[in-house]
Amino acid sequence: MPAYIFSDAFDLSAFFNRQQPKKAAPPVNALFAAQPGGGVSHAPFAAKAPVSKSPALPLPALQLARPSMQNSLESTLSTPMTEKRSALARLYHEVKSCQQCGLGKLRNHFVFGTGNTEALFMVIGEAPGREEDMQGQPFVGAAGELLTKMLAAISVDRKKQAFITNVVKCRPPQNRNPETAEILSCSGILSKQIAIIAPKVILLLGKVAAHALLNSTESISQLRGRTHAYNDIPVFVTYHPAALLRNDAYRRPAWEDLQNLKTTLKNVGVYDAPTP
Ligand code: URA
Repeated sequence: MPAYIFSDAFDLSAFFNRQQPKKAAPPVNALFAAQPGGGVSHAPFAAKAPVSKSPALPLPALQLARPSMQNSLESTLSTPMTEKRSALARLYHEVKSCQQCGLGKLRNHFVFGTGNTEALFMVIGEAPGREEDMQGQPFVGAAGELLTKMLAAISVDRKKQAFITNVVKCRPPQNRNPETAEILSCSGILSKQIAIIAPKVILLLGKVAAHALLNSTESISQLRGRTHAYNDIPVFVTYHPAALLRNDAYRRPAWEDLQNLKTTLKNVGVYDAPTP
């Protein structure tokens, strides 16, 4: 088996989902570019994100991740099957056919999460949208494109320095907010993901993620601007990229949130950690 199969192995979606031909993403509004009338320029958000492309997988991806195959795979891989990746692979196989809530029967893909399983930084959104449901990866539609740029603006490559997932793993119909019962059904999966990855910092995107993890009912404008904690892990809250796409007024506070986050990412060593 050629070693390159795992050359992008830190992207779990490459293990877990057959790669679908990618549709051209719609252009993201130049949200953070200079504003007519002299507003603050958020041009760095529009910087091209340094995201590497997943290679096509010549073998069925699900087969690659089966725990029983891991030992024999280990000797052929260019990147080792670490403890965290093994644990996440096991978790994925336990939960990928979940039917605990009504979203299970509606989904095309169970969207587990992507990124570096060894990352010190975790980003958590709300639930997959249409594009995510089609591709089986979080944040790959318009909001995802903006998220990639937001992270790139603070020098975070989403595949190398972050692990990205959602509170709810299956798409709610018409992208409605997930219901409390759906959030509760998925909460065990998310808490296990956090326990396995053991990030040093978590970023919560939007109200659904913030309320679910912080057990709060405050608005984002009340929650942002201070550091929270989840099981002693520092947690930052900012506006969901989809909200930024809808409302220009959130751009400046979101920018400030990212600058604060960047300071903490530096302090906990996210930029110094080895990347794949
Ligand atoms: N919005 C989310 O919260 N998550 C995604 O994966 C995509 C859009």
